[in-house]
Amino acid sequence: MHYDRMRPARIAAAIADGTPIVLPIGVMEYHGGHLPAGVDMLVVTETLARLGDTVITLPPFAYGAASHAVAGPGSGTLHLDATVLLPMAEALFAALLTTGFRNIHGVIHHQTENFVQGMPTDLTFRLAARNAIFRHLERERGPGWWGSAAMQDYYAQAAAQGDPFNWIRIYPLFPKGADFPFDHAGIGETALMLALAPDTVDMACVQDGDHWYTQGAEQATAVLGEKGVQIALAHLRGVLGCAP
Ligand SMILES: [Zn+2]
Repeated sequence: MHYDRMRPARIAAAIADGTPIVLPIGVMEYHGGHLPAGVDMLVVTETLARLGDTVITLPPFAYGAASHAVAGPGSGTLHLDATVLLPMAEALFAALLTTGFRNIHGVIHHQTENFVQGMPTDLTFRLAARNAIFRHLERERGPGWWGSAAMQDYYAQAAAQGDPFNWIRIYPLFPKGADFPFDHAGIGETALMLALAPDTVDMACVQDGDHWYTQGAEQATAVLGEKGVQIALAHLRGVLGCAP
């Protein structure tokens, strides 16, 4: 279900029944000669599309902090510094909270191999989510809301899923330790794209540039990619709380 295609009555019903609403977070980054710039966004949007009407998918955010670590300007990479993303991300999360959503999620694939420590794009969206929640609560409940007597069962509430800091959560596409190769334009990402968006892949160009990180990509298959998609889907169904 795509947010941009929903009329107000459907949006109101989704808020009332707590349907998960998901922001795909992507970057535009050079991925060798055989893959498109939008790999890290497309693997998220195409996987979320498999969840059908069990989630609402927001129009994706495509312009994260790709960095020029892989390739410089002119390669197709569009790098936006994380500091300029923070106000936009916080404003978007604030708008979703103001609209009434309380089951908001972000899903990102780019640079998520060490998600605990984080990288600029995911850390920015994670900070934006926290800022948006703190500011929303303070506006609605007033300063000192957490310290008031009404909150004395805060930890019990949090344990019972009533924790407002769960209103917005950010996840990597793949769970930690997934049995699937995490790489950049190598066998893993190439396989995912062969499974999810084969029209964007040109295997004739797989060794263009002679990069170390694309070595082995020619062994990628759609079957392997589908295995990765199933791992991501099981992970997302779990964290988003949606039925298979
Ligand atoms: Zn990638």
